[in-house]
Amino acid sequence: MKTIFAESVPGRGSRFIESDAPTAAQMLPGELLRAKPPRLPECSELDVVRHFTGLSSLNYSVDANFYPLGSCTMKYNPKFTEYVAGLPGFARLHPLLAQLGQGASQTQGALRCLYDAEMLLREITGMEAFTFQPMAGANGEFTGVSLMAAYHRSKGRKRGRMLIPDSAHGTNPASAALAGLEIVNVESRDGMVAPEALAAHMAEYGDDVVGLMMTCPNTLGLMETHLPEIVETLRKTDALLYYDGANMNAVLGKMRVGDAGFDVVHLNLHKTFATPHGGGGPGSGPVGVSARLEPFLPGPRVAVRRDGSFYLNNNLPQSIGSIGPFYGSFAVVVKALAYMLRLGGEGLERVAEYAVLNANYLKKRLEDVLDIPFARLCAHEFVASAPQGLRALDIAKALLDRGFHAPTIYFPLIVKECLMAEPTETESKQTLDAYVEALKETVALGKNNPEALTMAPRRTPVRRLDETAAARRMTLTDDME
Ligand SMILES: *Cc1c(COP(=O)(O)O)cnc(C)c1O
Repeated sequence: MKTIFAESVPGRGSRFIESDAPTAAQMLPGELLRAKPPRLPECSELDVVRHFTGLSSLNYSVDANFYPLGSCTMKYNPKFTEYVAGLPGFARLHPLLAQLGQGASQTQGALRCLYDAEMLLREITGMEAFTFQPMAGANGEFTGVSLMAAYHRSKGRKRGRMLIPDSAHGTNPASAALAGLEIVNVESRDGMVAPEALAAHMAEYGDDVVGLMMTCPNTLGLMETHLPEIVETLRKTDALLYYDGANMNAVLGKMRVGDAGFDVVHLNLHKTFATPHGGGGPGSGPVGVSARLEPFLPGPRVAVRRDGSFYLNNNLPQSIGSIGPFYGSFAVVVKALAYMLRLGGEGLERVAEYAVLNANYLKKRLEDVLDIPFARLCAHEFVASAPQGLRALDIAKALLDRGFHAPTIYFPLIVKECLMAEPTETESKQTLDAYVEALKETVALGKNNPEALTMAPRRTPVRRLDETAAARRMTLTDDME
């Protein structure tokens, strides 16, 4: 597709009428003026509409078709939440109004939304308090890890290591490293955190361990079976437990993280709670904590006065400080609140049931198509390996020609030629069946004619890219001159 500059025709489109108002050159200091006039495309309104409508249809999206990207929870997000978040009372509200304590009456509703959303997330997770400040999952992890470190500091301890299982999400070690901690890798066995491996690391590093960061269900799509032992082992040295709850789809209404003994959890509202993941945001990675970590939460926090009115509390002497601007992605929180209220407790539980059912149905149906390394029941997603002789990359590319988004590939690293699929609860059996047929066709084609698979995709706007060059020698601009 051409860029809008390539569609430009000199003289086409709107022209500015001569104005008798002072020009910028007369009004502004010389150093602020541009040297050359801006290069703008000259297009008619119709050219512009067609250009951008065409561009939008090049994007693959959940609104267009199935998107089983593992670890990303690309489910369908109901449109009514967009409507709610776009109501003028929310969309036109300036965040400084609440910050400055002015406009108290205009901001009460917004503060109540934050407050109510926090109450519901507390109920869902069993944690004592939440902050909405983090702007993404990884940002929530950094916040959570900082809270854990602040807790130990407040006890006069200097601790420097974080235990992280090899089945954790890749952002976990990155976030802990960013917070200045050293990472200790905990090996899994049969897809689970091995209690002996954990005990060995605790024996070695004991009083230097800040805590353990677990992705639950882990990146293999499996729920840990040794949680009580793990919690007990860490408690011995007052090490803390972090729960990466970016994908809560399998857990909603089934298990409360706080009841299981965790001290910190982050959620991705832009996965589980009605905002799409990916696409560059906006995201929201609220962090929930147990009572002992609450004093360290970022501020300001929404609080309620005795008369029932809401205000922002900045008086948080032990707070780790601000993690993001204002209160995080407010509109994303409004969408999450609308979603939780609409579904109710029972509806959220249904989400978990269908997410798990769909994943297990798909896994079962693919048993004779792909290699499935873990036979046991999975949670909201599962991992598979490309069959002998085929590459996950080629299968993924060939699926694009059949109209499907590819599953996540080569992640987690502990599974070879990995294809990680998360069907989500919003897909029908018919869609899952069509996906199975597409995968069957693809694998059969790969076995009979491996060359054909390496040529895919043929039908996408962009064909196979040189990924190394795309990363190392990136060109993001059209040739402008
Ligand atoms: C998506 C995800 C993250 C990171 O979330 P971002 O918003 O992309 O930073 C962390 N952990 C898990 C398990 C995830 O699936």
